[in-house]
Amino acid sequence: MAGKRTFTMIKPDAVGAGNTGAIIKMIEEAGFRIIAMKKTHLSKERAGQFYEVHKERPFYNDLTSYMSSGAIIPMILEKDNAVEDFRKLIGATNPKEAAEGTIRALFAESIEANAIHGSDSDENAQIEGSFFFSATEQF
Ligand code: ATP
Ligand code: MG
Repeated sequence: MAGKRTFTMIKPDAVGAGNTGAIIKMIEEAGFRIIAMKKTHLSKERAGQFYEVHKERPFYNDLTSYMSSGAIIPMILEKDNAVEDFRKLIGATNPKEAAEGTIRALFAESIEANAIHGSDSDENAQIEGSFFFSATEQF
């Protein structure tokens, strides 16, 4: 059975550009319920932990600098088929390849500063949600 929760984070470029409200509106209009949400900031070290799977990639150092460069808005979201449907709503990693009307097509600046994160599996949604929120913060 498809999982019902995913994890997302509005990234520093989109928060800095004042697109938080527009992005949350799109998320809610697409049928996702917000289970947990906050505005916070990652140190470079914690950004490195979050993106640990990309440690060996050439863009890892830039990515962790960028992700710690400003405020972020992590959220846990709920919907049937949440992980897959949310990846469709945000579009491809590179905004040049993102489908029209997706969050990244509308708001991303570049392949790195691409406005928003979306978990790629039920297992990672669980791990990433727990990275930011305790069980008592999830309603
Ligand atoms: P995310 O995990 O943030 O939802 P994604 O799953 O679409 O994005 P990943 O392959 O997991 O893409 O890459 C994680 C993040 O690393 C991307 O969102 C982007 O910010 C950055 N990134 C990925 N590929 C590149 C690249 N070639 N150059 C620079 N940054 C990149
Ligand atoms: Mg990813």
